[in-house]
Amino acid sequence: MESLFGDHEFLGKDSGNNFADIILPVPIPRMFTYKIPSILKPQIQIGSRVMVQFGKKKVLTGIIGKVHNKPPQAYESKPILDVLDIEPSVNPLQIRFWVWMAEYYCCYIGEVMHAAIPSGLRLSSESKIQLNPNFDREESKYPLDFREEKILEALEKTEEISYEDCEKILGVKTIHPILKSLVAKEAILIYEKVLEKYTPKIETRIRLTGDIASNKIALETIFEGVQGKPKQESILLKYLRDIPVFQKPQLNEKGVDKARLLEEGDSESSLKTLIKNGIFESFKVVVNRLPEEEPEKEPAILSTTQQTAFEEIKTHFETKQTVLLHGVTGSGKTEIYIQLIREVMDSGSQVLLLLPEIALTTQIVSRLKKVFGSQMGVYHSKYSDNERVEVWNGVLSGRFSFVVGVRSSIFLPFDSLGMIIIDEEHEPSYKQFDPAPRFHARDAATMLAYFHQAKTLLGSATPSFESYFNANQGKYGYVEITHRFGDATMPQYHLADLAEDRKKNLLKLDSTRMMREKIQAALDKQEQVLIFQNRRGYSPYIQCEDCGWTGQCVQCDVSLTYHQFAGEMRCHYCGYKEKVPQSCPACGSTQLTTMGMGTERIEESLSLLFPEARMGRMDLDTTRNKYGYQRLLDEFGAGQIDILVGTQMITKGLDFGKVTVVGIWDGDRILNFPDFRSGERAFQQITQVAGRAGRREVQGQVIIQSRNPNNDLYKKVIKGDYFEFFRQEMMDRKKFYYPPYVKLVKITTRHADFKVSEKAAHALHREMANIAVKKIVLGPEKGIIARIKNQFQFESLIKLDRSGNTQSVFKESLAKIQEELQSRPEFRSVRWIVDVDPS
Ligand code: ADP
Ligand code: ZN
Ligand code: ZN
Repeated sequence: MESLFGDHEFLGKDSGNNFADIILPVPIPRMFTYKIPSILKPQIQIGSRVMVQFGKKKVLTGIIGKVHNKPPQAYESKPILDVLDIEPSVNPLQIRFWVWMAEYYCCYIGEVMHAAIPSGLRLSSESKIQLNPNFDREESKYPLDFREEKILEALEKTEEISYEDCEKILGVKTIHPILKSLVAKEAILIYEKVLEKYTPKIETRIRLTGDIASNKIALETIFEGVQGKPKQESILLKYLRDIPVFQKPQLNEKGVDKARLLEEGDSESSLKTLIKNGIFESFKVVVNRLPEEEPEKEPAILSTTQQTAFEEIKTHFETKQTVLLHGVTGSGKTEIYIQLIREVMDSGSQVLLLLPEIALTTQIVSRLKKVFGSQMGVYHSKYSDNERVEVWNGVLSGRFSFVVGVRSSIFLPFDSLGMIIIDEEHEPSYKQFDPAPRFHARDAATMLAYFHQAKTLLGSATPSFESYFNANQGKYGYVEITHRFGDATMPQYHLADLAEDRKKNLLKLDSTRMMREKIQAALDKQEQVLIFQNRRGYSPYIQCEDCGWTGQCVQCDVSLTYHQFAGEMRCHYCGYKEKVPQSCPACGSTQLTTMGMGTERIEESLSLLFPEARMGRMDLDTTRNKYGYQRLLDEFGAGQIDILVGTQMITKGLDFGKVTVVGIWDGDRILNFPDFRSGERAFQQITQVAGRAGRREVQGQVIIQSRNPNNDLYKKVIKGDYFEFFRQEMMDRKKFYYPPYVKLVKITTRHADFKVSEKAAHALHREMANIAVKKIVLGPEKGIIARIKNQFQFESLIKLDRSGNTQSVFKESLAKIQEELQSRPEFRSVRWIVDVDPS
């Protein structure tokens, strides 16, 4: 593949180029080249949206990715039909980033574009046709033929029609020339319906009419007038309570939201009367969905330790692009971020702070809001599309020079980033599994920062091996904080032996004596308890006690998970669900029991053991709706919950002063995972969840229940020597060729026919073995889950030398091989999924 950055212009308007490469929202390997008609030349800019014909009749909207003077070799290029933007929709840095992402993660640039642009701004083939309001049939210089007339007739009846409608109306397939002619005659407009998807929020506001607002006597008269009309009086009083009209006339100008004025149950018809009588007036304004908020707090003053770390970070940035901040849980990393963000903003650059998905709904965001007010944009995946467009536009307009967001916020239209901070950089959820682009937000953000000539700060109490390795090698700057902020100390660990307690008959409802005693002690002192159960690789299911039957998904080779609350069994891969049967479908027995210990079971056990305690549970089930997570945390923070049971969600960034006990219900589940990263992940997870305990004066207590408390890993976690742990694990990584010593690429084939899927995987494997680069190919093997949604999966794992060259040579060859295999008739409907740096 030719280099995409070698020989073309990225900036500025056209200077005589005749061709443009267009990024299209379709799964094709590369950009398509179109001719630039001379009439459009002045409007051509990189990043602008254009309309082009794709295939025989489809009209698509795409983005100009590149302009040049080389006609395509393989096909005759078609002309660009129209340019839709006056100012480009995306900037050249974004395009450069997309191109990099498509190359690095072996996906199509159209897929990156799809992920990058909120659907409210998205481009699609949904072009709509509308009557041109300036068109006057009588006055028109150009006669219309009968087909054109037919289209106009249709348009006079309804506001807009689609291309498909036109085809139907005329009964022909080639409608484009007709539409083109209608456009030329200025009879119709073709526009992108999707542009309309984003709707501004309109609010009805109420204010006192000008005469009254400026005249005390008039207002008094009005009060006399409403005497004996308590409903009208109440509205008037409420308005004046909120708006001091005489002291602050500008507030009356702005008015108040009608809905807010009436929210305490005041009567709408009374308000109408007041408006009718000329006392109030109602008007409409476009408002931000993202409210304005003033900063209400100065940032905290850094402790000496924090200040030293802060200075060290800045010193490293003088010579390094990336710095790793390794600070124990509770060391006050957030406060250091705040100082850095301030500085970068003051220098006029933009800042992006990435947080793992779930941490974003919580405390840390409100902490930041207090300091930055509405200069800070928040980009959350639970946002509506309209809200996302507002963040996007806020970045464009400069309203937000600082954004805190989830992984997809790396696609926002930043044009002058000064710094990207990635908090909890070890978090596996930064990696996108599905669909493509399967990017890792930490790695992609580091690249994005590089394109902006910006700095990257990675923060964690338990760094990923990749980042720690880079720091050790001197590629990244490294700053360490080994103490918690203030008087807080690191928590104390206790291993509770499940097997031994069982032998001694001390086990009650799966809890050890140690666990019960520590919980009781905390409850006695009005302190709070967090109980953690690892979700991964485990979920409750229903089993027949007589014949061993378990519910299986009909589309995937996995057991169905039991959801007690809904009385259902669900597949976590495809969403299939069914009611729990009354009796065993295999043998008819009614002895069906729940297996495993889900968070629901633990909650139940604990309520039996501690009937006085107020329980809460936080897992996928209880946080499904938008505010579920926040509500639970608010209750916990307000001390309305004594014991909170939860999955991974309770480990992320929570800072509650009254939590003194953290219980890990089943430590062994964290350890036993068949993956080269299992040690690293276990260390991280235990340290992180333990880090929630004792973040103030009282030292935290962490209890780990295990059947195998002598496991070496527990010892290492308790010792807390991350470097030593890293050093030992890395010996295995090196010996068996695993990251960070090599780069992994996983290729999965999927097909409804087991044989075809297997054959395709083997064909790919053979071709791979022929590529002359240093690499190791494992597999193909049946996928860990052999069948998903009725598609059979085979996986190959490729281990590549770390050098950049090896990787790009490999990826180029892979693209060619894939293309060749796809063109074989037998593999036409096979899906190939390439996952670079799988986790
Ligand atoms: P980390 O992110 O490293 O786990 P946090 O930033 O959450 O740590 O800090 C832990 C606690 O200490 C928080 O409650 C925070 O408000 C408090 N804290 C940290 N630094 C300061 C400071 N300089 N002044 C006052 N409080 C601080
Ligand atoms: Zn049975
Ligand atoms: Zn399924």
